[in-house]
Amino acid sequence: MTYFNNNNSNKPSLKTVSERKYNELKQQFDDLIHNARLNEQLFKRFSEFESHLMESNDLKSLLTAMTTEFADYFEIPFLKLVLEKDIFTHWHLAPVNLEQYKDVLTYTLCDYPELLVNANGSLYMGATPKKISREIHIPINTLSFAQLPLVRNKKLIGMLNLGSPDPNRFRPDMGTDFLERLTMIASLCFENACNMEQVRQLSLVDGLTQVCNRRAFDEALIQETSSAMRYQRHLACLFIDIDHFKKINDHFGHQVGDEALKQLANCVKPLLRRSDHIARYGGEEFAILLPETDLSGANIIAERIRETVANQEFQLLDQALKITLSVGVACLDGSCDGGTNIETLAQILVKDADEQVYIAKKSGRNRVCSRQR
Ligand code: GH3
Ligand code: MG
Ligand code: MG
Repeated sequence: MTYFNNNNSNKPSLKTVSERKYNELKQQFDDLIHNARLNEQLFKRFSEFESHLMESNDLKSLLTAMTTEFADYFEIPFLKLVLEKDIFTHWHLAPVNLEQYKDVLTYTLCDYPELLVNANGSLYMGATPKKISREIHIPINTLSFAQLPLVRNKKLIGMLNLGSPDPNRFRPDMGTDFLERLTMIASLCFENACNMEQVRQLSLVDGLTQVCNRRAFDEALIQETSSAMRYQRHLACLFIDIDHFKKINDHFGHQVGDEALKQLANCVKPLLRRSDHIARYGGEEFAILLPETDLSGANIIAERIRETVANQEFQLLDQALKITLSVGVACLDGSCDGGTNIETLAQILVKDADEQVYIAKKSGRNRVCSRQR
């Protein structure tokens, strides 16, 4: 009969077995604790950045946070933020000049579905995808890549693209919980900043002509007067009043009149610089601020506007019509009236331009009249 033989001296003792087991378990436990600590640190870092994102509720600071600050904070060598172009093109007062952000690209995303690495819109981590390398200018030495699609209400509003020369920086087997949470918060922040911008636009843009409204003009007037005085620069103001506009309404109806106002604004806008401000001041009156422009410069622009409009045949619904303008020009010389306060100077500038319109009307309309103060 054979019995279970436990007499082999080479076999480990019970004590040794339990010690080994203990050490294995201890190692596992230590690893778990180590990983938990790493995750806690990571969580804190992500949370800190998320709080920063949530505080950036205007588009300018959000764009900075999602580009240079993101890359610096997480030490990411390559970053390109792609945003839906439509978000920016339907705004009439551009909230930011996107050209200033070298890491931001805009696309009409529905025209470029191939920009998404995962067609289902999920987060991607892994090798650099060739299909979008050229589109978003990924450097050749980028050996690992992550794409974080920004989605709101099931609509793709952008994507954050990250790259590194380290092939292990973004691997498909890595956990993505923190990144997904951050992406969701970034998407919410973008939606929030866009909604705030929408409200700002509604309060500052004239609904009919899509130029600034009176409120926006008044704000710009104070700002521009203040900087003209501070830096001793000229500031010119044009007042434009359509001649006999009432007759257009009376003869052809208010719809044609509305169309005339829209087309007039579109005709004048391209004649101005980006730094100028055009606003619908009242019914058929427009006001324009020309920073750093003296009276002779302003007269040239006023005359160009008057002439361009007078020479154009406006196609208003089914009606071809000519329009003429009376334009008043006034100018503040930045070095004058150091003692007068900004609001008073601003009012004087507008009043002078308005008075010149009146003079232009009295002298026969379709003309420019001006005054230096
Ligand atoms: P003048 O050459 O002296 O400026 O004559 P005018 O007819 O242009 O000036 P008036 O101030 O008598 O008339 C302005 C007209 O502008 C009256 C008003 O019905 C019209 N108007 C104001 N706002 C709007 C608008 O939003 N749409 C349309 N269609 N007409 C408007
Ligand atoms: Mg008028
Ligand atoms: Mg008029």
